[in-house]
Amino acid sequence: MFRKILIANRGEIALRIIRACRELGIKTVAVHTEADNNSLHVRYADEDICIGRGPANTSYLNIPVVLSAAEISDADAIHPGYGFLAENAHFAEICEACKLAFIGPTPGAMRRLGDKIEARRLMKEVGLPMLPGSDGPVDNEDDALRMARQIGYPVIIKASAGGGGRGMRVAHTDVSLSNAWLTAKSEAGAAFGNAQVYLEKYLEEPRHVEFQIIADRYGKCVCLGERDCTVQRKHQKLIEESPSPIMTPEIRERISALVVKGAQAAGYHTTGTVEFLVDKQLNFYFMEMNTRIQVEHPVTEMVTGIDLIKEQIKVAAGEPLKISGTHPPQGHAIECRINAEDPANGFMPSPGTVTSFHMPGGPGVRVDTHAYAGYKIPPYYDSLLAKLITHGADRDEAIKRMLRALDEFVVEGVKTTIPFHLQALSKNAFHSGKFSTNFVELFMDNRL
Ligand code: ADP
Repeated sequence: MFRKILIANRGEIALRIIRACRELGIKTVAVHTEADNNSLHVRYADEDICIGRGPANTSYLNIPVVLSAAEISDADAIHPGYGFLAENAHFAEICEACKLAFIGPTPGAMRRLGDKIEARRLMKEVGLPMLPGSDGPVDNEDDALRMARQIGYPVIIKASAGGGGRGMRVAHTDVSLSNAWLTAKSEAGAAFGNAQVYLEKYLEEPRHVEFQIIADRYGKCVCLGERDCTVQRKHQKLIEESPSPIMTPEIRERISALVVKGAQAAGYHTTGTVEFLVDKQLNFYFMEMNTRIQVEHPVTEMVTGIDLIKEQIKVAAGEPLKISGTHPPQGHAIECRINAEDPANGFMPSPGTVTSFHMPGGPGVRVDTHAYAGYKIPPYYDSLLAKLITHGADRDEAIKRMLRALDEFVVEGVKTTIPFHLQALSKNAFHSGKFSTNFVELFMDNRL
């Protein structure tokens, strides 16, 4: 097992990883910026090292300083969390070269599965259903036009290195395709340093359902069921739940077997998520794979009773996976992302000082957060302030518990998404479980 892990991240996920390390008896090193000096992840770690002032590109994303911090503190492993360097194969490679264990996939598996075009190829081979699309990159506008006509409008142009909803554009006609192709390409180039794009059929009003896997180095891979992340705004998830309200045991079994096959074919051995779009007829289509721990992992933890971060650390240290093969969900879990944003003002970021902070409690309530009364939210990073998770015997209890917990949650000094969640979870459309990725848009337009 590892002796000391450096956490190359911040905020709630850094704290979550520190908690797992404590339980495993592993020492922790927090890296942080001057802007994050007073974050809880810094206070809870055994050691902390300042790696910059504020902006992420000169601190949390700066590979040489993160590695220097690992060397100074004599850490033997790095946990990247999510975002920042988590899906950077170059970073994973350098860690390997420096004899530091990277808690994630090998650089090779990350490249094979993290690149959306490559992942599509591999998953198609193992038999996962795909939306019609280009089987490789589309290099020029003429090819894009030809391909779009062949697939049939609407189509979506996506960056092969994409993430966070960037580098994606929808086109409904030849005219909008030219524009969409150019903007997707330049956005992808600017955001990911890789302008490669591909085309896929655009599904109207789909659901987003993803499967959690974990694999060890000895060929064992287990699927821990699904999460439904259909409630999104601008392709960013806001509410996640497990199990999915539309899931059937047959579909779960069929897709689980295929995602396990895909991960094994790629030589994958860590936690990972395979994302799908689902149409009204409950057809599942592979969308992409995320080769890291996800923000929304707690809902899976609540319905399986498995600590995903501890398992991820154990398999990275070379332990064989002890989890058994089947995990029907126990009850129902929901997560609401409490962002420092103003829902009444187009979800505008609301940095500033949290003047009071009172967390909900009671049965079936979990809060993952780095915030507290007096915490100053820096303007440099994402706006996630807390994750509120509830677990109930069934979906109805999980929803009622969430409404009760949201009501108890007091955050003052900054605007948050709590009022949005309170209203959204009260809607019949949410209770019925019948909604699609346009839920937030309809909600904002008072059309629900
Ligand atoms: P990213 O990696 O940037 O998060 P994804 O490929 O995961 O991008 O897609 C994010 C979201 O975009 C999906 O959850 C879905 O709402 C929407 N989306 C992506 N591809 C399609 C598609 N082919 N049809 C309809 N919606 C799509």
